[in-house]
Formats: sequence, structure tokens, C-alpha cells
Amino acid sequence: MTEPEAGRARLLEGGPIAAEIRAAVAEDVATFTASRGRPPGLAVVIIGRDAPSTVYLEQILRGCAKVGIAGRFAELEGQATEASITSAIRDLNDDPTVDGIIVQMPLPPSIRLRAIVDCIDPAKDIDGIHPLNAGLLRLGYDGFLPATAHAAVEILRRSGIEIAGQDATVVGRSAVVGMPAAFLLVREDATVTVCHRRTRDLTEHVRRADIVIVAAGRPGLITGEMLKPGAVVVDVGINVVDGRLVGDVDFESASRVAAAITPVPGGVGPLTNALLLTHLIRAAERQGRDALALISGDSA
Ligand code: NAP
Repeated sequence: MTEPEAGRARLLEGGPIAAEIRAAVAEDVATFTASRGRPPGLAVVIIGRDAPSTVYLEQILRGCAKVGIAGRFAELEGQATEASITSAIRDLNDDPTVDGIIVQMPLPPSIRLRAIVDCIDPAKDIDGIHPLNAGLLRLGYDGFLPATAHAAVEILRRSGIEIAGQDATVVGRSAVVGMPAAFLLVREDATVTVCHRRTRDLTEHVRRADIVIVAAGRPGLITGEMLKPGAVVVDVGINVVDGRLVGDVDFESASRVAAAITPVPGGVGPLTNALLLTHLIRAAERQGRDALALISGDSA
């Protein structure tokens, strides 16, 4: 993490933390491969190569290759039906060389999210989108966590930010980012408020927070004037504005008020990808056991 200039927030960078995680993953992959005679396997289901998320998914596969994980696309054509996608996922569920499955999001508009999510084997659902994993998180058990929400909280933990007892506000309540981040903060003993588009006074909720996690998909939604001086800000947003990648937080004004802030790019993003690899190793080590065997005392 980078030390601040005078009057500037400390920068919470995901890259160095991600590099540490990846080094540990590479060791785990080597041990797994030596003992099982095959590398851990990840399948990424994509529906047409022209989807905007393809670049992100290619990045994940490059990350897999670097640590010795056998990652591959399971590619369906852009006109794929719900039945053909669920059939491809079931084949991957049954494939003993595939330990983890992720599916390109967002899905084409004609495909129902629930139909796809429900058919992923929860034991291979390394991005925590299956209802079983969402339910385990809600109950405080360790299923697979959605990697982005996991990264948003892990960057705080690994940067030595105190979470217990703090007032935290999460802006955004999606099933993949906002809500799981809120549940994780509760698990870390924060007192949590969740905001959304119908929140009456967003500024009021943001201003009283010691920790603010923003996952709204709205560039510049949170500005310095809205923050409590000394707050810690985690910006999950990824938006392209004038060809530039920006978050949901106005970095310029926020970094003059906050004590610490994640940059975009370079904050939550790199950590998300690294954590996904740790989820894959965990799935590989448990391959062959049923989904409920995921519930155990160790951390996700
Ligand atoms: P989403 O499903 O569109 O959810 C956005 C949430 O923000 C919704 O709950 C929405 O409220 C809330 N919201 C939108 N405008 C708001 C406003 N003006 N005031 C208060 N709340 C507002 O998005 P998502 O999938 O959670 O993603 C959120 C952001 O994270 C996006 O920028 C996305 O690109 C980024 N992301 C980053 C990573 C990463 O690795 N860093 C990974 C995934 C996503 P309602 O519920 O009322 O509609």
C-alpha cells in the first residue's frame, strides 16, 4: 500500500495483496497437481466472444495459466438457448477435471439468470452465485463467496483497517456485490447500513460511516463532501468515462477527506481475480464431496 502525500488518503492498492495471494495459490496448485496427477481445472462459460465481459474473463484465464491452473472457455454461440446453456453447464458439473465453473455475466437478455444459476453445481460455484452459497453466507457459514464482495472486504482486512465496531455503509444491494459485502461486514462485527436508489438521503448514511463500500455502477456518485473526515472508502465501481476506467467515487475530492481509499483501476479488481483462484483451489481440494460438505470451520 502507498503512503499518502500530506492531506491525501492512504492508497489501498489491490495489486501487491493479489501478488501475495497468487504466490500462495501457485504453491497450492503445485501440491495439488503433484498429488492428484492433474492440475485444478476452471471452466468459463461464455455465450459469444463479443460480450463486453470477455476481456475480463480472458484476464482470469491468463491468471490461471500463470499459476498452473487448467483454465478454459466453454464457448456457446451467441444464439445459444437456455436449454443449450444449462446442458453445457451440467456437462461441466459432471466433468471430474473441472473443479470450478464461472458463467459470463451479464447473460443475453433472452436468458433467465435464475435458470442458469440454479443448475451450477454449488460445489463448483466458485463465484458464489448459486442460492445455496448465498444462503450459507447469509447464515454465517462458509460457502463460496462472490469474489468481488470478498475482495471489497478482504482489502480492508489485509490493509489492517479495523472493521469490528465500525459504522459501515454499503451503497448498492445487488446479489453479487452489495448484499454479500454487507453480510461479510456484519460477520466482521461492523454495524452496517445498505443504501440503494430508493434511499431517501444517501449523504446522511454515507457521512456517518467509518467505512464506505460503493458498488452502484454510477461514476462520481460519492464525493468528498459526502464523507466523514477520516473515513475508509472502498470503490468497487468499474465505469468507462471518456475512454477512461473510473469508479463510483470521485477520487479527487474523496481522497482529500478520506483516511484511506482504493483506486480504480488497481484496487478491488486485481484482488477479485486473485481470490477467485483461491476459491478454485478450495473447490478442487473438495472435489467429489457434495455441496453441503462445503460447510466447515475454515475460511472461504
Ligand atoms: P447492479 O446490479 O447494477 O447494482 C447496483 C446497485 O447500486 C443497485 O442496488 C442500485 O440500487 C444501487 N444504485 C444505483 N444507483 C444508485 C444511486 N444513485 N444511489 C444509491 N444506490 C444506487 O451492479 P453490480 O453488479 O452490483 O455492480 C456494481 C458496480 O461494481 C458496477 O460498477 C460494476 O461494474 C462493478 N463491479 C466491479 C467488480 C470488480 O471486480 N471490481 C466486479 C463486479 C462488478 P437499486 O437496487 O435500488 O436498483
